Amino acid sequence: MKNQNQTNGYDVVIVGGGFAGVTAARELDMLGHNVLLLEGRDRLGGRTWTDHRLGLDLEMGGTYVHWYHPHTWTEITRYGLEICEAPGAKEAYWIADGQLQSGTPAQLNSIVKESFEYLLGKAYEHLPKPFDPLNSSSFTELDSTSADDFLNGMSYTKEQKDFLDSLLAIDFNGDPKDGAITQMIRWWAFSSGNRYVFADTVARYKIKTGTRSLIESIASDVKSEIKLSAIVKSIKSDHENIEVTTREGESYQGKAVMVTAPLSTLDNIDFQPALSNTKQAFIKEKQVAKGIKVWARIKGKVEPFVTYAPEGYPLNSVHLDNYIEGDSIVVGFGSDASKLDPNDPKEVEAALRNWRSDLEVIESTGHNWTADELSQETWPMLKPNQLTKYIKEMRRPENGVFLAGTTYADGWGGFIDGAIENAITTSRKVHQYLNASK
Ligand SMILES: Cc1cc2nc3c(=O)[nH]c(=O)nc-3n(C[C@H](O)[C@H](O)[C@H](O)COP(=O)(O)OP(=O)(O)OC[C@H]3O[C@@H](n4cnc5c(N)ncnc54)[C@H](O)[C@@H]3O)c2cc1C
Repeated sequence: MKNQNQTNGYDVVIVGGGFAGVTAARELDMLGHNVLLLEGRDRLGGRTWTDHRLGLDLEMGGTYVHWYHPHTWTEITRYGLEICEAPGAKEAYWIADGQLQSGTPAQLNSIVKESFEYLLGKAYEHLPKPFDPLNSSSFTELDSTSADDFLNGMSYTKEQKDFLDSLLAIDFNGDPKDGAITQMIRWWAFSSGNRYVFADTVARYKIKTGTRSLIESIASDVKSEIKLSAIVKSIKSDHENIEVTTREGESYQGKAVMVTAPLSTLDNIDFQPALSNTKQAFIKEKQVAKGIKVWARIKGKVEPFVTYAPEGYPLNSVHLDNYIEGDSIVVGFGSDASKLDPNDPKEVEAALRNWRSDLEVIESTGHNWTADELSQETWPMLKPNQLTKYIKEMRRPENGVFLAGTTYADGWGGFIDGAIENAITTSRKVHQYLNASK
């Protein structure tokens, strides 16, 4: 956050200070370039945000990490951070065919044991090299199929279908009818086709000191200048120079620009010359995830529990996360942010009462990432054909402008891991570009 000696004439201007932007700043610094990072918010971290609410440090956005997330895990190791987990659920509540059911988590899991294991086994067959998705013909052929159509091609009982639908609604953080099955196949393949490993990779371990401690650790190794509250509104390239201008009217010059703003926000930036038609088509189509993550403080100490409900309910899943002063803290996910205001305890209580009429919500909170102009999406999940049609093109720089971020990762696209991975690969491309133009 240093090096004030140059307000103009940077080698690289990075737009966005989430995991992709901050990792890229560290990489490009390390490679000897003069970097400026412009972040629109008054904090780093982007779609990860550890904030003190309901009496605890809570994750408003990205949370779960695992040693199967290779890039994230490297950073956790590098900075000596520890992981922790919520208490394991002892009770399960689920809605099948409109009816509330309850039992143990093991009873719930047995409903889809065979079908889910069959699906995960298929994933590894389609994508034996999970980090090379665009070069597997069996996988790319599936990219035109929606998750919902894929499941409808198999035979399930209504109870099984509703449980699988709940899981997909959580994973897509949107309607599984809109999402490509290849998105799920990637996640399942990354977990070696093992459903228990898969569950752990996406929803078990958290960084004990919060995701904030990981972004702060990476940022502490950034030697270049970071400007907060600097929303970029235009990027104009000519042959030798690129001018980046903020809403406040400040302009910065760079030889290259790396834009890590989320896909759904790219149409807020005026690129001159315009990005290619293919890039623009993707930006216009946007992606699937438009859901909500909700935290609530529940009166009294309840046994650890987990709940599921299919698409259409305001929350698709809730689980107990922690206890505070004799009360319980739960976290939930819904696939449509327009259906639930996380800051309205009455609405949140009504949503929880689809499973448990005994729960009393004292306070609730959350951040609506879908309505937030600097994200407009939660974790990005692609629609049918988007992976095969657009990702290669999004990675192709134009006029010294490079797009980067979790959406374009080879591996865990949509996760913190994908943001770090893509920042590393894109930084190397920027490095080569700058060296070639010397
Ligand atoms: C509710 C939720 C739960 C999640 N759960 C998990 C999880 O459990 N595990 C996991 O690994 N991942 C999870 N994710 C996803 C993960 O948080 C993201 O994939 C990752 O943080 C994205 O990093 P990024 O750098 O690519 O994008 P971002 O974090 O979005 O960073 C982009 C940055 O660009 C800034 N920006 C945007 N427009 C401009 C502009 N015009 N000018 C300047 N700055 C701009 C934004 O403010 C932002 O800081 C979750 C996300 C959400 C929202």
